[in-house]
Amino acid sequence: MAVRVRIAPSPTGDPHVGTAYVGLFNWLYARQNGGQFLLRIEDTDQTRSTPASEASIMRTMKWLDLAYDEGPDVGGPCGPYRQSERTAHYREHTKLLLDKGAAYRCFCSDERLALMRERQKAAKLPPGYDGTCRNLPKEESERRAAAGEKFVVRMKIDKAGKTIVKDVLRGDIEFSHAEIDDQVLMKSDNFPTYHLANVVDDRLMGITHVLRAEEWIPSTPKHVLLYQAFGWPAPVFCHLPLLRNADRTKISKRKNPTSLDWYRAQGFLPEALVNFLALMGFAPSDGSGSEVFDRQQLMERFALEKVSLGGPVFDLTKLEWLNGEWIRRLSVDAMADRLVDFMAIDFPDRPGRKLDPAFVRQVVPLIQERMKKLSEWDEWTDFFFKEVVLAKEAFRRAKLAPPELARVLTACADLLAAVPGLDHGRDEPALRDLATRLGVKVGDLFMAMRVAVTGKSATPPLLESMELLGKEKSLARLRAAAKFLSEGDPAEL
Ligand code: GLU
Repeated sequence: MAVRVRIAPSPTGDPHVGTAYVGLFNWLYARQNGGQFLLRIEDTDQTRSTPASEASIMRTMKWLDLAYDEGPDVGGPCGPYRQSERTAHYREHTKLLLDKGAAYRCFCSDERLALMRERQKAAKLPPGYDGTCRNLPKEESERRAAAGEKFVVRMKIDKAGKTIVKDVLRGDIEFSHAEIDDQVLMKSDNFPTYHLANVVDDRLMGITHVLRAEEWIPSTPKHVLLYQAFGWPAPVFCHLPLLRNADRTKISKRKNPTSLDWYRAQGFLPEALVNFLALMGFAPSDGSGSEVFDRQQLMERFALEKVSLGGPVFDLTKLEWLNGEWIRRLSVDAMADRLVDFMAIDFPDRPGRKLDPAFVRQVVPLIQERMKKLSEWDEWTDFFFKEVVLAKEAFRRAKLAPPELARVLTACADLLAAVPGLDHGRDEPALRDLATRLGVKVGDLFMAMRVAVTGKSATPPLLESMELLGKEKSLARLRAAAKFLSEGDPAEL
């Protein structure tokens, strides 16, 4: 039987990094087995689901290149792929369960249920429905429903039994039914709960393997019981370890960025994020010690049974390192294209702008080695576009007194003015000689020039940058800094 897997995110809030993580493992499993990967939108929570959130889930899946074969926007034979459009299926299946006696109508009011919970709490009893409506005669149940009385439909769980969930990574997990509540399947507004909709859809969509986060383990025995009640074989279950904060708690916004939009806006490359998320779950090592793997390599090395249960800690510093590795693997043209595309995107806190692709191509060789994220573009290159605002503290790293700095910068400008154009191969040794002649350290001379031309002490290679900036501007900045330093109050420096 062909493998069919899915992710089933609820479109509430920002697209979550956990969705990409689970999505990647599903995608890998499908591709590895020549199967299909589906996107189903679980939007039965009408108060929290939004179209904007759904759109961002789809956008980020595309950004990460985790293409799904079926989904709300790409269609497929088992549509619709949005649960809010599938309510007829849930109603029909609820009726089936009611007819079989595997579910029952519960007419208890919210007030009564609240009172019941309070009493359970006071008596230190575990929470759960007390079964008041469990054994209502069928006729009474039908009559009250027909009379328009409000009800929910609950699963009828035989409290004496137990259910075993078979998990690919964890083996058999046993649940005593005494721990399982008579779960609501259909709410009084005729909308299904997660449990019913999820099981019905997994069945109707032919899902063979449910690979989802471990937080769903407590739901799985209910799902297994539903499959049994319908008389369907259950799919294979595999619960993936949750991503964790450094303190090993479940990854949370407060301690880690969780929105995929944040990663995109920071200029992480999708290749790097995919590589990183894969490393969170398994070790695709080839013995070389390398941790950089492309999709093809991940696919070749992935084995579902080998996903480690360690509880992977999300380490942003490692992701940044990996992103730098991926940036360095791009050709100059590819990197330039990424930068142009990235800078053109409108982000909430930064409007997009069009860069000149030809110029970007010239700058890339100077900055690619140094960049960790695409969002560093401005930081590395703003001096090409903006006048430098000189700050006296910036010159501290040149370790020379201001009059000395002014003298050195003027000498540098004079030296460069006397030769045609700028040529770093030719100018660098000449400037080194100049430092010797002036009796200053080579490093201090270049630092003084760097700050004068760029306003910063860490920049792309200076002389190459000056060539790009142009001779006229470069010399003007050297002279302006010399003037600034000779006029400045030495005590301030
Ligand atoms: N709607 C659930 C979620 O938000 C789906 C869980 C599952 O994969 O069954 O993740």
